[in-house]
Amino acid sequence: MEDKKIDRKKFISTLGLGAVAITTGISACQDKAEQIAAPNIITNKSYRWKLVTTWPPNFPVLGQGATLFAQWIREMSGGRMDIRVYGGGELVPPLEVFEAVYSGAAEMGHGASYYWAGRSQAAQFFTSVPFGLNSQQIYSWMLFGGGYELWRELYADFNLMPFIGGNTGVQMAGWFNREINSIDDFKGLKMRIPGLGGKVLEKLGGTAVLSPGSELYTNLERGVIDATEWIGPYHDYLMGFHQIAKYYYAPGWHEPGSVLETIVNKRDYDNLPKDLQTIIAAASERLALWVISEFEAKNNEYLQKITQESTAEIRMIDKITLSGIRDVTNDVITELVDKDSVAKKVHDNFSSFARGIRNWSKYSEGLYHSI
Ligand code: CA
Repeated sequence: MEDKKIDRKKFISTLGLGAVAITTGISACQDKAEQIAAPNIITNKSYRWKLVTTWPPNFPVLGQGATLFAQWIREMSGGRMDIRVYGGGELVPPLEVFEAVYSGAAEMGHGASYYWAGRSQAAQFFTSVPFGLNSQQIYSWMLFGGGYELWRELYADFNLMPFIGGNTGVQMAGWFNREINSIDDFKGLKMRIPGLGGKVLEKLGGTAVLSPGSELYTNLERGVIDATEWIGPYHDYLMGFHQIAKYYYAPGWHEPGSVLETIVNKRDYDNLPKDLQTIIAAASERLALWVISEFEAKNNEYLQKITQESTAEIRMIDKITLSGIRDVTNDVITELVDKDSVAKKVHDNFSSFARGIRNWSKYSEGLYHSI
């Protein structure tokens, strides 16, 4: 009885700390050695850094988010850290952001880890897994399930320090100029779809193309591709796909809550004073919340605009087709992790966490949505 009282007291005394840990969860995930290694002296030294993005210049939400991130860091650091943001192609091509940051051509980057699957198959698990976790669940995996540690371990090999730099929420399956009534309709389909979703499409008999956002409208309009996925109604509307595609399919089975990344050259990051390191972590957390909130707030409004302003038909992929895609997804992931021990390590951790949080969601989100 006495022990229980003590435990409870201990528990209550940690509640204040717990609240702090939650609000600064990302920075709390940095390992101890790194915190000790960072110099604690606040100096007046200023830093002029470059941030390259995979997004076209001034791109809504994603590019804007990167610009806000730079602005927040400038404000929080009292001007000591001045980051200039470059859209894709302004300093380096969009899909060379990873190389630019690890080589030191730019100190920071903003994009998504699944663009770098050619470098590391394991990287794509840190964006999204088809039929995997939603945004809130994958944030939980990152911060409290071991995701961040695995991501940082993987990226350390590339001289990079990654942070969550936003989340799209559940995406749409994409824009199609062909009907999808069964898994056979993916045969011969040429579609822009990155990450593990692209591998699933290939297994279904289609061709997956990874092109940067800036090329998609033209490629779809000219029939270079038959379909493209992008994000969700708000951003897709701004991209104009409703003007050129016949069907807009839901749900985004391939990206149920994609994490965007902010990457920092690790050598440069390690050489920063501790307060600037914390400021980068804090700005990343703010961006993580800002991006998902903006998407979720605007998606319905723009879904309505698409319905009203275009002839594009909004459709659902039927349950039998989705179930067939899910089976193929499981085969694709099994084959991938059998061949790649790093991807296996990440996937084992991810899937174990996913099992647990899905069980909880039966009693929380699942039950709530069924009301
Ligand atoms: Ca997407």
